[in-house]
Amino acid sequence: MAANIKNNNLDEISVTTLQGIGPRNAERLARLGINTVQDVLFHLPSRYQDRTRVVPIGSLRPGDQVVVEGKIELTDIKFGRRRSLLVQIADGSGSLILRFFHFSTAQKSNLTRGVRLRCYGEVRRGPTSLELVHPEYSHFEEGDVVAVEETLTPIYPTTEGMHQLSWRSMTERALAILDEQPDLLHEWLPQELLDRYNLPALLEAVRFLHRPPPDVSQQQLLEGSHPAQQRLAFEELLAHQISLRKLRQEQRSIAAPVLFGGESLEKALLAALPFKLTSAQQRVASEISGDLKQQHPMMRLVQGDVGSGKTIVAALAALQAIGADHQVVMMAPTELLAEQHLRNFQGWLEPLGINVAWLTGRHKGKRREQILSELADGSVSVIVGTHALFQEDVRFNALGLAIIDEQHRFGVHQRLALREKGAASGKVPHQLIMTATPIPRTLAMSAYADLDVSVIDELPPGRKPVATVVIPDSRRDEVIIRVRNACKEGRQAYWVCTLIEESEVLQCQAAEDAERLLAEALPELQVGLVHGRLKATEKEQIMLDFKSGKLDLLVATTVIEVGVDVPNASLMIIENPERLGLAQLHQLRGRVGRGFAESHCVLMYHALSDNARERLSIMRATNDGFAIAQKDLELRGPGEVLGTRQTGEMQMRIADLVYHQPLLPQVQQAAEIILERYPSHATPLVKRWLGQKTEYGSV
Ligand code: ADP
Ligand code: MG
Repeated sequence: MAANIKNNNLDEISVTTLQGIGPRNAERLARLGINTVQDVLFHLPSRYQDRTRVVPIGSLRPGDQVVVEGKIELTDIKFGRRRSLLVQIADGSGSLILRFFHFSTAQKSNLTRGVRLRCYGEVRRGPTSLELVHPEYSHFEEGDVVAVEETLTPIYPTTEGMHQLSWRSMTERALAILDEQPDLLHEWLPQELLDRYNLPALLEAVRFLHRPPPDVSQQQLLEGSHPAQQRLAFEELLAHQISLRKLRQEQRSIAAPVLFGGESLEKALLAALPFKLTSAQQRVASEISGDLKQQHPMMRLVQGDVGSGKTIVAALAALQAIGADHQVVMMAPTELLAEQHLRNFQGWLEPLGINVAWLTGRHKGKRREQILSELADGSVSVIVGTHALFQEDVRFNALGLAIIDEQHRFGVHQRLALREKGAASGKVPHQLIMTATPIPRTLAMSAYADLDVSVIDELPPGRKPVATVVIPDSRRDEVIIRVRNACKEGRQAYWVCTLIEESEVLQCQAAEDAERLLAEALPELQVGLVHGRLKATEKEQIMLDFKSGKLDLLVATTVIEVGVDVPNASLMIIENPERLGLAQLHQLRGRVGRGFAESHCVLMYHALSDNARERLSIMRATNDGFAIAQKDLELRGPGEVLGTRQTGEMQMRIADLVYHQPLLPQVQQAAEIILERYPSHATPLVKRWLGQKTEYGSV
C-alpha cells in the first residue's frame, strides 16, 4: 500500500506521495502547514469518537456520543414550526427517537416499523424522550454480525474541503508507510531518557494517538495528559530548548570586549543619587558587572516590575562600558520612552563629563550627520533612541554595550540582528535586555533559554500599592468627580482610552472625544491629550507639561503604557479595561503609585464576559506583577505575556507552553543530557520540530 519511498526521511516525503492526495488537497493541507508525511503524522486528532461498542439505549445520558442498535417501532412526520421525521427505535433496554429535519421520501419509506438500524450520534434531551438528531445510520438484518470499529475514531482539526473521511484514509496510509519502514520515523530520544521520564517510544506514541484502543481514557486524551501526548509535547519542547541552548553555546565562542574600569564613575553616580539602591538592584547590578568582564558577550534579561528601578541599573552598566572606553546604545520601544531615558541619562551622566546624545527619525540633515560622525569618532559615549536605531546605518567607534528596554516585543531574531551589528570590529557588544513584564520562571527558561535572567524582585521603599476598583461606565459622572477632587488636592490624573489595538485612528478619535467631554465637565482643570498620531514634538511638549504640573489631567491612549514617570500622578482611570490583557493593564497602572500619595486606579468597564470579570478581579486583588503574569498566562495564553513576536517564534504544533509547564524542568534536564552525551541527535531533533525556523540555531 505504501508508495515507493526512496527518501529516508519522512520530512522530505511530500504529502502527494500518499494515495488520494492530489494538488488540490495538497494546497488545502498546506493551509494547515502540512506539507510532508511527517507533518501528517504530527497533526494529531483534537478528539475521538467511540464507535467500538454498541451501547444499550436504557443507559444513555444527554451529551453521550454513542453507537446504538434497535428496531423501529414507529415512524411519524410531525408538522410543527419545522417539519420533522421522527423514528422511534427500541432495543429491549429502552427507546429513543431519531429526529430528521431534512429527509427524502425514499429515506422515509426505508424507515418503517420492524427495520433494524445501527446509529451513531450525540444524545440530546428531546421534548418527550432522549433523541439523536440527524444520526449517521445503517440498516442491518436480524442475525447479522456487523463489526464495530476496533479503535477510537479520530477527529482531526481540519480546513475547508478536507473531510474527516479523507483525514482517516490519509493517516491510514501514512501509518502504513511506518508499518513497512518503521525506521523512517527516527527515534532521537535515547533509551536512557525514555526510561528516566517514563515516555513511550515515538513510533508507538504516534500510532497510538491516531488510532487509540477502545479501553483508553478519553478524558485523559482530551486533557492532553496521556503519556503518548506527553511524549510528543516533550520532544517538541526539547527541540526548542536545544535550539536556544545551541544559540547560547555559540555566544560563548564569540569575542566581546572585556569591560572594566568604571568603578570610580559608578561611585560618583551613586554618591549623587537622592536614594540608595535596593538590595535587589545591587545584586542585579553586580551580576551584570560580572558578565561585562567576560570575553564573550553578555546576553542578560533583567526582569523587574514597573517601578522597580531598572533604569539606574542600566546606567551603572553603561558606566562600566564607558569606563573601559567603549560606547553604549540604549533603545526603547517608543520615542516618548527613549526621551525619558535620555533625560535620566543626561541627568546622571553629564555631570560626570560623559556625552549623551539621542537620535530619532526626527533628526535629519546636518544635525543627523553631526551625531553620526560624533558616534563614529567616539566623542559621543551614549546614544539613546528607539528600536529603529539598530536598523539604521549607525557606525560606532567602539560599541561595548547595547541596552534594550521593554524587550518583550523583541524576539530572538532581533537579538541576533543586534549582535551582528556590532560585529564589524570582530567583537560583538554585550546585550542587556530589560523588561517590566514578569515572566513566570519556567516559561522564561523556555522562551529565553538563550539568555541569562536576573530579577529585580523588590520595589524601592515607601511605594504604596495602587488601590484598584472595577466599576461600570454608567457611573462615569462619579468618576469625573473623583478626578476633580484629586486635582483639587494638587494631584494629577491619567484618563486612558483603549480600543482594539489595530485601529489607531479610532483609538485617537476616542481619546479626542474623551478629552473634549472632560474639558467641558471640568472647566477648572487644565486637560491635555496625547495619542500616537501627534507629532513627536507635540507629544513631548504635552508630556513635559504634565510632568511639570502645568496640566492636571492627561487624556491618553495606551501610548503611555510603558515607562512614563510622573510621581505626582496618583489617579488613573482606564476605560474599557476588558479589552486589554492583564500584563498591559498592570503596566498602565504602574504609571501611578510612584510618589508618596495614596494612589488609585479605576477600571471603568463597558461590558464584562465571565473571563473578563475574572481577569479584572485579579487586578483588584493584587499588585504583584508575577502573580498577574501567571494568571494572564492561564487566561490568555503565552501571547499576552511574551508578546506576539516571541510567541510567533515559540509557535508549537503539539506542545502548549502553559499546559505543559510541568514538563519544562525535565525538558531542560533532557536538553543538557542530549547536548552533552548525544550531540549528534541535537540537530535532527531541532530540524524535525523547527524546520525552516532553524536558521536561528545556526546564525
Ligand atoms: P522601571 O523599572 O519601571 O523602569 P524606573 O527605573 O523608571 O523603573 O524607576 C522608577 C522610579 O523609581 C524613578 O523615579 C527612579 O528614580 C526611582 N528609583 C529607582 N531606584 C530607586 C531606589 N532604590 N530608591 C528610591 N527610588 C528609586
Ligand atoms: Mg523603565
